[in-house]
Amino acid sequence: MSAQIIDGRAVAATVREEVRERVDALAANGVVPGLTMVLVGDHPPSEIYVRLKGKDCEQVGIASRVMRLPADAAEEEVLALIDRLNADPRVHGVLVQMPLPDHLDPKPILDRVHPYKDVDGLHPTNVGWLQAGHPALLACTPQGVMRLLREYEVPILGSHAVVLGRSAIVGRPMSWLLLRAHATVTTCHRHTAEAAEHARRADILISAVGKAGLVEGDWVKPGSVVIDVGITRLDDGRIVGDVDFEAARERARLITPVPGGVGPMTRAMLLTNTCLAAERMLQRKMLP
Ligand code: NAD
Repeated sequence: MSAQIIDGRAVAATVREEVRERVDALAANGVVPGLTMVLVGDHPPSEIYVRLKGKDCEQVGIASRVMRLPADAAEEEVLALIDRLNADPRVHGVLVQMPLPDHLDPKPILDRVHPYKDVDGLHPTNVGWLQAGHPALLACTPQGVMRLLREYEVPILGSHAVVLGRSAIVGRPMSWLLLRAHATVTTCHRHTAEAAEHARRADILISAVGKAGLVEGDWVKPGSVVIDVGITRLDDGRIVGDVDFEAARERARLITPVPGGVGPMTRAMLLTNTCLAAERMLQRKMLP
């Protein structure tokens, strides 16, 4: 049996269409959702990422801009910029592009973004709201994975989900979202002994590690769903995930490719979050 391939590009296109409709509804209320990206220094891949995010925004009618600070900017300068953006009613989403230059500690900077504008879902308030079951702005990648699972009608309730990786941006929120959807969740990390044994029991296996070839074919339970979040650029320029795709697809029922699986969903969910932040801001204004 060869697995059905999950088409992240197609689902992302659907999400963008939904966002476009919501942007139109906001326009009827005189609101143009706005995303501001803060770029400190001149890290070439970051330049590419912010450009792509800007193009995505343009496609759906979100106003985006990049605010640049020099590579030697002091923490106070970055915080002052974030304070200005927090106070600006035209800015609904603030995204601090990672990585920051080495001399800057990301924590106080990310924590300074107002939770209502935290479209990356990284602020402790949003993390807490997620865990408490309140409506939060959710981290884009895990949110995108949940949408893929929903779109392909993968039953989550009662399933055993195994998440490889526990980063703040992918692994941990992924595990929380699955738990919230009533899966039994096992989270593995670099100190987990026998991650393969856990993986073999997974109805839904999600790998977010960043090690090409980590998940071998025999880690995959026959008939399971495999979601590969990992991205590694090989020396020959190819982009691959964590999963041995060819071997895994012979055992899985559904599998994401890399590229073309989770990546497009991450980008699409940033648009969803920006739109949601604008909708919530409008609702708060309309409250008596
Ligand atoms: P990270 O380095 O912050 O976290 C990696 C995690 O993997 C850690 O929690 C670590 O403990 C765990 N780990 C290491 N070795 C392991 C092992 N043998 N078994 C199980 N767990 C192990 O990385 P991240 O930011 O979470 O990103 C993970 C990967 O996902 C990277 O390849 C990144 O490029 C990719 N990524 C992709 C998207 C996307 O849109 N597709 C978005 C974000 C990150």
